[in-house]
Amino acid sequence: MSGATSKVVVSGARPTGQLHLGNLHGAIKNWLKLQDEHECLFFVADWHALTTDWADSRDIGKNTIEMVLDWLAIGLDPARCTIFQQSAVTAHAELFLLLGMLTPVPWLERNPTYKEQQQQNLEGRDLSTFGFLGYPVLQAADVLLYKASAVPVGIDQAPHIELAREIARRFNTTYGEIFPEPQTLHTESPKIAGTDGRKMSKSYGNAVYLTEDPAEIDRKLSRMMTDPARARRTDPGDPNLCPAFTSLHRIYCTPEELAWVTQGCKTAAIGCLECKKTMIKHVLAELGPIRERRAKLTADDARAVLEAGNRRAREIAEGTMREVRTAMGLGPT
Ligand code: SF4
Repeated sequence: MSGATSKVVVSGARPTGQLHLGNLHGAIKNWLKLQDEHECLFFVADWHALTTDWADSRDIGKNTIEMVLDWLAIGLDPARCTIFQQSAVTAHAELFLLLGMLTPVPWLERNPTYKEQQQQNLEGRDLSTFGFLGYPVLQAADVLLYKASAVPVGIDQAPHIELAREIARRFNTTYGEIFPEPQTLHTESPKIAGTDGRKMSKSYGNAVYLTEDPAEIDRKLSRMMTDPARARRTDPGDPNLCPAFTSLHRIYCTPEELAWVTQGCKTAAIGCLECKKTMIKHVLAELGPIRERRAKLTADDARAVLEAGNRRAREIAEGTMREVRTAMGLGPT
C-alpha cells in the first residue's frame, strides 16, 4: 500500500523454520499492521543466518519455505507487501561490498550486539569471522537498497539502524545524495516467555509453535512455568512474578479475566492450571484459523510468492544499484 503519508518499510527475519508464539508477537503481528499502512518489503534473511551459523547451513532452504508458509498463514498478503528471499537478490551482496569499503572497522567493533554475542556464545559457534563482524553492513545494505524510510526494530536493534544512517551519511557526502537516512520505527513487541520461563526460542526447546496440534499446545502451556512461590495449591502467588501471566495472560485475557486471575492468584483462590486454562482458550482460538490456513498451503505456494517477490525486489534493487555505480564512477564510461 502506498499513500501520501506512507513510508517504505523494510524488515527481515532469519529463516528459523516454523514460527512460534514469540515470533508472532515479537515481529509478525506488527508486520500485519504495517502492510496496510506502508509500502512494505519483508524478506527471508538467509545470508544473515550464515553470519552466525555458517557451519550449519543445511536446513536454510527448508526453513525458508516453512517460515514463508507461516507468514502467509498468519496473514501477510503478497498483494499488499513484497515477500522475498535475500540471497535471490544478489544486489544485497554488491551493495554490502561497496558499503564495506567506506565503513570503518571501529564502527563495527563498537556494536554492542557484536560484543555481547561473542561473550554469551553459549552454543560455541565460531563468531571470529569477517561475516559476523560485518553483518551490520549487510543490514545497512538490506535497507538502503530499497531506500527504506523506516525500519521496524526492537530496542536492541536500534544501534544497527544508527549505523545504517551513519553509513548512508558517509556515502551521500562522498558520492552524492542517494540514500535517505532510515528512521527507526519503534514497535511494541512484547517478549514472550517460553515454557521454562526464559525467552521463547527454538534453540532453548521451550517454544510453542503456531501450527502445533491443539492438544500439544494445551499440554505445553498447562505445564508452563509459573510463580515459584505457588509450590502448593494453597500457596498465594504474585502474577507479576509468573512468566505465563506477564507474557501470555496479559496479551490474551480480557480485563475482567486479568482481574479475576490477579485476585485468585494472590489469595490462592484459584490453582495455576485453572488460571492457565483461561489463557490457553484464547491462544487456541487465535491459532485455530492460522493452522487451518497453513494446512491448505503447499511448498509450491511459498515458492510462487517468493518468485514474484524476488522479481519485484530485484527491479527496485537494480534501479538503486545503477544510481550507486554511476555515483561512484563505476558505471559504463
Ligand atoms: S495462578 Fe495464574 S498468575 Fe498466579 S502463578 Fe498461577 S498461573 Fe501464574
